[in-house]
Amino acid sequence: MAEVGQVAGAWRAKIVTLFPEAFPGVLGLSLTGKALAEGLWALDTIDLRPFGIGRHRNVDDTPAGGGAGMVLRADVVAAALQAAGMPEDRAKWPVIYMSPRGRPFTQAMARRFAQADGLTILCGRFEGVDERVLEEYGVEEVSIGDFILTGGEQAAQVLIDATVRLIPRVLGNQASTEEESFSNGLLEHPQYTRPALWRGRAIPEVLQSGHHAKIEAWKRAQAERLTKERRPDLWRAWCAAHNRDPDEDREL
Ligand code: SAH
Repeated sequence: MAEVGQVAGAWRAKIVTLFPEAFPGVLGLSLTGKALAEGLWALDTIDLRPFGIGRHRNVDDTPAGGGAGMVLRADVVAAALQAAGMPEDRAKWPVIYMSPRGRPFTQAMARRFAQADGLTILCGRFEGVDERVLEEYGVEEVSIGDFILTGGEQAAQVLIDATVRLIPRVLGNQASTEEESFSNGLLEHPQYTRPALWRGRAIPEVLQSGHHAKIEAWKRAQAERLTKERRPDLWRAWCAAHNRDPDEDREL
């Protein structure tokens, strides 16, 4: 088992994959990479290949009932999960299979995962994994969107990135996770920085006014406008939670 990061009791991801060399990948860069190096979280990769069957260490076989492609074997995946070793309590330690059939990944899920002691993540390849191993280990299927990737490694990195940045001290500036898109059910307002005038485009005056109440009101109005325009699903949910009429035409 390859190990990076060493602080005892730190949040930990255990990744079962045919491609351990894909990790830490982008997770090794920038804030998540620095936090990994500092031991604020830890990463183990468990290579599926050595658990394969026979001289060729076969990990997959043809699908029962016929059909295209190959399926990862239940016995091989189970041996790797067993070797990964994890607590029994799925609330404290969710076991996840990255899968387009899974429940869509959300910020709320990232918060739940960040509050666990760690995660075990199974990355699929080919046509996926034998259903029985998912049942046997109480595995939760999570999708990162309605499209098909060739493997679960990038999906796992998406999930880990969104989760790890919620672990205290990873971002440095905790306030920024509270203001972001989805945290309060709305998309974030537009952002600006210097120069104040660029190619004839000025930063909205209110942002330079120093008037905090007005700035907050502007940010809220912009967040509402963008959410209403781009994500009617989020807008309706937010309105229901805040006793607002979603069709009401306010000056935004
Ligand atoms: N035959 C499967 C797709 C297999 S894609 C099906 O139709 O459901 C191969 C692997 O890529 C999967 O086992 C899964 O681990 C990963 N994968 C593909 N798309 C994904 C997505 N949208 N979210 C999460 N994981 C995905």
